[in-house]
Amino acid sequence: MISLRFQAVNNAQKHKPVILKSSEKRDSKIFAQNVFNQHARRQFLPHESYQKVEKAIHHGEKIDRELADQISTGMKEWAISKGATHYTHWFQPLNGSSAEKHDAFFHIDKDGTPIEKFSGLTLVQQEPDASSFPSGGIRNTFEARGYTAWDPTSPAFIYGTNLCIPTIFVSYTGEALDYKTPLLRSLRILDKQATAVARYFDKTVKRVNASLGWEQEYFLIDTALAKSRPDITMTGRTLFGHAPAKGQQMSGHYFGSIPTRVLQYMRELEKEAKLLGIPVKTRHNESAPNQFELAPIFEEVNLAVDHNLLLMDIMNKIAEKHNFKVLFHEKPFARVSGSGKHNNWSLATDQGKNLLSPASTPKENLRFLTFFINTIKAVNEYEELLRASYATASNDCRLGSSEAPPAIVSVFIGSQLTKVLNDLEDISSLEMSDQEKTEKKLNVVKEIPEILIDNTDRNRTSTFAFTGNRFELRAVGSSANCANAMTTLNTIVAAQLKKFKIAVDELINTKKLSKNQAILAILKEYIRDTKKIRFEGDGYSKEWIKEAQKRGLSNNKNTPKALKVKVSDRTISLFEELKVMNRREIKARHEIELAAYINFVQIEAKVVGDLARNHIIPTAIEYQNVLVKNVKGLKDIYAENYKKYAKEQLYILEAVSLHIEEINSDITKMINTRKKADEIKDLEKCAQMYCDKIRPFFESIRNHCDELEMLVDDQLWPLTKYRELLFTH
Ligand code: ADP
Ligand code: MG
Repeated sequence: MISLRFQAVNNAQKHKPVILKSSEKRDSKIFAQNVFNQHARRQFLPHESYQKVEKAIHHGEKIDRELADQISTGMKEWAISKGATHYTHWFQPLNGSSAEKHDAFFHIDKDGTPIEKFSGLTLVQQEPDASSFPSGGIRNTFEARGYTAWDPTSPAFIYGTNLCIPTIFVSYTGEALDYKTPLLRSLRILDKQATAVARYFDKTVKRVNASLGWEQEYFLIDTALAKSRPDITMTGRTLFGHAPAKGQQMSGHYFGSIPTRVLQYMRELEKEAKLLGIPVKTRHNESAPNQFELAPIFEEVNLAVDHNLLLMDIMNKIAEKHNFKVLFHEKPFARVSGSGKHNNWSLATDQGKNLLSPASTPKENLRFLTFFINTIKAVNEYEELLRASYATASNDCRLGSSEAPPAIVSVFIGSQLTKVLNDLEDISSLEMSDQEKTEKKLNVVKEIPEILIDNTDRNRTSTFAFTGNRFELRAVGSSANCANAMTTLNTIVAAQLKKFKIAVDELINTKKLSKNQAILAILKEYIRDTKKIRFEGDGYSKEWIKEAQKRGLSNNKNTPKALKVKVSDRTISLFEELKVMNRREIKARHEIELAAYINFVQIEAKVVGDLARNHIIPTAIEYQNVLVKNVKGLKDIYAENYKKYAKEQLYILEAVSLHIEEINSDITKMINTRKKADEIKDLEKCAQMYCDKIRPFFESIRNHCDELEMLVDDQLWPLTKYRELLFTH
């Protein structure tokens, strides 16, 4: 019988070079055709309702029942004209993916007439039967329902034959059960605080929006090959596999030419994304074989998060058609670079001014420095919380292994801006009048060059890097919902701007300083305070770990440890004060995240045990028998002289036997430890035990198995090998 592995290798689709034809329609023509955007709203809504809706979207004005009815009717007509038959409230429960439940427009009216119906009430609110979404104890089982409520700031779209309405998901008592609700709250408070500060420089500023441009990394593996690996199917990553002879050091994959089969996939994916209004822009090979990246033009954070989630879903669906499986896991292959999702973040006013962009006038540059330094200060104050915002079991596999930032958070700003900050600090210590100092400082500010947007001054080892007109958070995992990290970043920056405003106003009022003097005085303090977090060196180096420890920065290498700060008193008062989350919501999330960690590692432990004991050990024994038979045969022929001919076989036999022994005894120990862990009621302790006492077995069991892979007859080996997974297109 031909083994699953060889069937898979035979069935994997091979790369066939073809010349791709150009598509009939240009991208700008198909863009957002399936989105109920301003253009569609204008077409399908009565003029008055259209105007009211735009106000509601852009200025947060309330939508009453009558208006909701008009919108839903217009939306329905638009959707049906595009072939949609169903509608769904589309939301982001705390298990990381998006959720939907489809209802048909089709309806039988009271008098028996079949019609298409979609009322304002169904647009605005729905009650999904959501008892199985994680709620961390917020929803009691007897009222195990939450409800979804329309988020008018993210436009409805048609996906397949469904009208999807982006919604928040909350419990009956109004507590957030999803990612979107706190994200929207954090954006609101950030807008408020940032607008107040931006008005120091320009009284006409009415709003400040945060923007996000994510860069999605992923692997593509042939479906047949992926299916032949139970570990990929069950956990999204390989838990075994010896490194291939040719690794990524030789592959020249980064920015190399994209294989045609992959390109066909990408083109179809991009077309679908464009129809849905996702402005995808960049595609390229990443550093590992079969690893790629996709990045859009940045958008307002809430929309960007929705678009990223939607895109991940589309990626899976289109991949099926092309016989690919997408791996979003942060570390699908050991000893091969993993995947992240850089979050580029910035702030812009309602007039479109990027507040994190150096400009040509001193006034604008003082504004730039204000937002720039306050952001760094926010990270300085809450580095541990920021670290916690991207802590997951799968991201733990990637952070800190010389391919992604370490668990330590640091901020990189480049040599030019470091010099600007140093100069400002030096002037402060000069012996001259305050007036003179301010003038001198403003001169420094004037000279900030319009810099940096080039790639020369870059440091890829930093967690949070300034890249010319935005900050880039590089530690977010490829499988994550960006909302978690973005909510935290927005909140800490909002809190910081609030403090800044209070401090500046106080100086102006009590010390009678001018506005510029007061701003510069506070910024000077912040420049000094943020030395702790600013680091321009190699974030992957051992020296940095020591240095960071000296500076008192946190280094929480695993998720159970990293999550602790999420429920500290300081964190709770931060989120409560800014009304982003209350204590109950914070605690519930913490519970859900711990439970997710435990679940994840528990499944991995089971798969490790199963594969090693039921696939690898039996194969090793089979090969052991081949060797035994061979040695016995040699003995039959050569009698006492047999050792002369069986020496090497005996070595291999011994090695194989020892590996089998080690693997089996480790599995037994792992299972016993797991049983003990499962008895622990306290989630924090249970998660820590999984982390400290169970995960290490994966490594030791794997090492023996990978050694066996190198010893055992290739024809017998049951698991599809790395070279097959990574080098078969
Ligand atoms: P690199 O890989 O060199 O970081 P990419 O071109 O892959 O560069 O990605 C840059 C990302 O930064 C894109 O997603 C882009 O949309 C985003 N970006 C650019 N300007 C801003 C901004 N002002 N706010 C947020 N994101 C931005
Ligand atoms: Mg980047």
